[in-house]
Amino acid sequence: MSKIAWIGLGHMGVPMSHNMVKAGHTVRGYDISDAAREAARANGVDIADSVADAVRGADAVFTMLQSAKVVEQVVTGPDGAFANMPKGTVVIDCSTIGIDTARLLAEEAEKLGVGFVDAPVSGGVQGAEDASLSLMLGGDIDHVAVAEPLLKSVGAYIVHVGPSGDGQAMKVVNNAMMAVGMATACEVSVLAQRLGLDSQVFFDIVTRSSGDSWVFRNWFPLPGVVENSPSSHDYEPGFMIDLIHKDLRLATATAAEFDVRLDTAAAAAKLFADASAAGAGERDCTALAVTLGADVEKATAGV
Ligand code: NAD
Repeated sequence: MSKIAWIGLGHMGVPMSHNMVKAGHTVRGYDISDAAREAARANGVDIADSVADAVRGADAVFTMLQSAKVVEQVVTGPDGAFANMPKGTVVIDCSTIGIDTARLLAEEAEKLGVGFVDAPVSGGVQGAEDASLSLMLGGDIDHVAVAEPLLKSVGAYIVHVGPSGDGQAMKVVNNAMMAVGMATACEVSVLAQRLGLDSQVFFDIVTRSSGDSWVFRNWFPLPGVVENSPSSHDYEPGFMIDLIHKDLRLATATAAEFDVRLDTAAAAAKLFADASAAGAGERDCTALAVTLGADVEKATAGV
């Protein structure tokens, strides 16, 4: 069993670090939020006072943070993970941060005698709780060999895609499709309501028809139909609107760099940006349906 440092104890980090504890690893965690630290402590995670304190003496360091900017802050600099973790150990970053940041951080890690693996995940909070996440890894074979056995405690499908950045490349394309699907599911759910279609009937038919998708099935945006969808829990995240918007910005920026049209992702980004500007940035991404005019009371009661 290993000594794991876990930085970032949010919606994903809490259940993932809990699964590490359940697998028998010793987990020392850190988060800037008091509530996050308390949630992890209740799961048997030993709470450190800082990033440096968490990573000292660790066999491996996990990060699960919002964005490229936050991951950079946490791993680089004199108080960061790279400078304070034992030489030869590896940071396994499960956040969605984009290709360029992953490559830069891997180069920076190498200069300091440590490793960096990009290991973004798919499957949402439910997948994190069930340890059924898909993980897409980018990095040197030696570093990936350290990451893979540990990741079996949090995920069910673990693939080494290629060198540094390739895990993020895979995540960018997956999430472009996921986020466009989410935006479509929200828009069409409002239309279905306006047409007088019962939410349950709408769900049952689409999930047996060609409109079906993972997001529609798991994150159906009207309440009272899919028990585990955040829409059935007052749109508490889950996956925040500001984070799905971040992923769409990563997708559109990457597409622009490669001179590829990604107009549907740009349209979805605009919808989520408008929802965020309307104050819904920290609600679950299914709440886009509400900002687009879904009648939540009607959906709950059934039409
Ligand atoms: P989150 O905002 O719930 O969690 C991030 C945590 O990082 C927060 O608790 C925050 O307090 C903490 N944090 C911020 N700055 C910090 C710092 N300097 N030091 C220590 N902790 C710090 O986000 P999440 O939903 O858990 O997502 C994390 C990452 O995983 C994101 O990149 C997201 O895109 C990706 N992701 C999320 C989901 C999902 O369904 N939520 C699914 C797949 C991938």
